[in-house]
Amino acid sequence: MKKIILFSFLLCIIFSVRSQSRKNCGFGEIQQRIQSSPDYEQHQLAYQKLLKEFKNYKMDTVIVIPTVIHVIYQNATENISKAQIQSQLDALNNDFRKLNADTTNVASGFSKADVKLEFALATFDPFGNSTSGITRTFTTIDSIGFKDLHDDLVPAWNSRRYLNIWVCNVGPFLLGFATPPGASVNPQEDGVVIGSEYFGTIGTVHNDPSNVYNKGRTATHEIGHYLNLLHIWGNDFNPSCSTDDQIADTPNQSREIYDCPLPSSTCGSNDMLSNYMGYIDDACMGNFTLGQKTRMRNALYILRDSLQYGVTLGITSLKEVNELSKTNIFPNPSLGIFQLSFSNSIPIKNVSIQILDLLGKEVSFQKRESIHGLEIELSKAKKGIYFVKLEEDNFTVIKKLIKH
Ligand SMILES: [Zn+2]
Repeated sequence: MKKIILFSFLLCIIFSVRSQSRKNCGFGEIQQRIQSSPDYEQHQLAYQKLLKEFKNYKMDTVIVIPTVIHVIYQNATENISKAQIQSQLDALNNDFRKLNADTTNVASGFSKADVKLEFALATFDPFGNSTSGITRTFTTIDSIGFKDLHDDLVPAWNSRRYLNIWVCNVGPFLLGFATPPGASVNPQEDGVVIGSEYFGTIGTVHNDPSNVYNKGRTATHEIGHYLNLLHIWGNDFNPSCSTDDQIADTPNQSREIYDCPLPSSTCGSNDMLSNYMGYIDDACMGNFTLGQKTRMRNALYILRDSLQYGVTLGITSLKEVNELSKTNIFPNPSLGIFQLSFSNSIPIKNVSIQILDLLGKEVSFQKRESIHGLEIELSKAKKGIYFVKLEEDNFTVIKKLIKH
């Protein structure tokens, strides 16, 4: 932690010398911290292996991600309104669905993707109680950037089930930061942190007329990181054309570019200035690419997969999603026989059992009057990922099966 604080301090000095008006994202520092953890390589190898298994996974349905906003405030200005929060959700949904009016900012020849992700305020909290999807907490801490959130502030709601966004004072030099998927991140810190004056499109984002981060694109950018995107120039701090963002359809860019710049070519090709994963003013951004869409959705399917069950396969409330934790399945992966057991000793009555493949296509269906447990037979099915969906009057359970 001392290292991070020292590094943040040095970063602050660098930024203050360069420009008072330019603000940056702190993802690079988070990434450095994660890359130095002993099991980082192991995580990466495991992800690459899973990615190969998923290479034919082309599902392109709209996924709605349950989102909780933790407002952490020291004064009334930082305690932003529900309307301002909703304006951020609207901006995210426009940007991730390519419904933003300013795709005209994107130079010809560059792709503009409908990522088919949407963000909705959670309607149930982790205990199954109704919620607005917003928490509000007073703090006496001046600036929250890079602090261990769970020590000082509000711990995340189950970060396997919700996208957690903390809105707070992140200090004078940062816009926000995010934790990437599939890394050694404290689950209580996993999510996105954004300065309240850069959150949303109305309200306090307009308190300072010179604020150029007023169209909600800080959240768009940080959620990009949360779903495995790097900055468009890579994550290096020095200008270089030898590192990039590992995505084929974003041209290599040597360094950070700010403001609303004229066309440039820093690595021999036209820079994609409008990309959300850059640092230019919100008003001049306009696109994710198709390559970024694939990388984000792969991360969602593989590394943050529990965020998507709620909608993709028909669960409509987080209360139902929470039932997942009460069902055990063994062995998994399996060569074909899976045993399901339920923690509840009372038999489940009148249950329908549906097996689905990755595309949501039904493989089998049966109705049973009463079950205590269940054996699923997939010996003759192809290798791959399947889902078993159990439905009864009061709940729905979906479990992932991996057939080897
Ligand atoms: Zn960033």
